[in-house]
Amino acid sequence: MALIVQKFGGTSVGSVERIEQVAAKVKKFRDNGDDIVVVVSAMSGETNRLIDLAKQISEQPVARELDVMVSTGEQVTIALLAMALIKIGVPAVSYTGSQVRILTDSAHTKARILQIDSQHIHKELKAGRVVVVAGFQGVDDGGNITTLGRGGSDTTGVALAAALKADECQIYTDVDGVYTTDPRVVAKAQRLDKITFEEMLEMASLGSKVLQIRAVEFAGKYSVPLRVLHSFQEGPGTLITLDEEESMEQPIISGIAFNRDEAKLTIRGVPDTPGVAFKILGPISAANVEVDMIVQNVAHDNTTDFTFTVHRNDYHNALHVLEGIARDMGAREVIGDVDIAKVSIVGVGMRSHAGVASRMFEALAKENINIQMISTSEIKVSVVIEEKYLELAVRALHTAFELDAPAGKGD
Ligand code: ASP
Ligand code: MG
Repeated sequence: MALIVQKFGGTSVGSVERIEQVAAKVKKFRDNGDDIVVVVSAMSGETNRLIDLAKQISEQPVARELDVMVSTGEQVTIALLAMALIKIGVPAVSYTGSQVRILTDSAHTKARILQIDSQHIHKELKAGRVVVVAGFQGVDDGGNITTLGRGGSDTTGVALAAALKADECQIYTDVDGVYTTDPRVVAKAQRLDKITFEEMLEMASLGSKVLQIRAVEFAGKYSVPLRVLHSFQEGPGTLITLDEEESMEQPIISGIAFNRDEAKLTIRGVPDTPGVAFKILGPISAANVEVDMIVQNVAHDNTTDFTFTVHRNDYHNALHVLEGIARDMGAREVIGDVDIAKVSIVGVGMRSHAGVASRMFEALAKENINIQMISTSEIKVSVVIEEKYLELAVRALHTAFELDAPAGKGD
């Protein structure tokens, strides 16, 4: 008998019919003899609707009151799911975050979980009930309702699984697992049976938005086995784990992530003196712009070129700051480029295999794709290329690293 925490997102509980389908699913696990704690989000669209309501009163609603209001979305779904379970003969009981006592700090709308009291839940489970817990919400030590930030129900699920020492945390969603890359770009993308937390974090932060990043971090930190599954289709999903077992069949690269969210800025002909990087990036960070990749070229004629990428939303701001810096430093020119994309190969197998980066560069060269910037970490190689080649690059890399589904398997 296992203890399983199951989290269902907004679309999975988006209507009464769906809630009844979720109840039927939970019942199946229960009939197997497992203890089940279910975490639910608000019905899809509900949190947005509530926030819109608040904004009709004030553009900047008081955060404490906003939390009191948006937490009601999840309060509705826990009650409905508990009713649906009871209707089909499964003893169930709903709990809000504060009833469980999911203790958080007092940072309304972006609170962090400090501690979870598992006493009530264990008592209910012992009495044979399924416990349905509201995601996304907690309570601070003053008794104020707090929320964890958008998409926070994933974090609730993982945190509860950690606190209860559950055997597995299952995240049910509208995809059947984590894929080698976006199936909309590569038809032969495959569902991964397994991926490590580290790889998942790289994939998530690079734009594969299956799970809230914070939830993955949390699961890694507390070693909670996490599984992503489709809410209404049968299948094993993808297990996110700690272990990096090496097998012959295990591909070196687990996946290919990409995004179009960045822009590139270059300052040319900067005097090459100590402190240049700081003189350039100091004001950029002072303007609250986060920098991703950085390249400084070898000095030539005592001047150097310095290139970095920022989020596209920050592009104009960064360009403006950089033009000021160029004037102050007597640099030759500033060039900006928004038509770029970043492609990354991710895999823990890189640690034990040489030549992964060169295989990547070879695959891109064969397609005549020019690499503008490169960065590497222990389990990732990223390149910046011209945006119009993005899909071609992802497909070429997917094939080069033998990730393509066998004929007939991909769809
Ligand atoms: N209902 C919240 C949101 O829409 C939390 C969640 O869905 O995870 O952000
Ligand atoms: Mg969600």
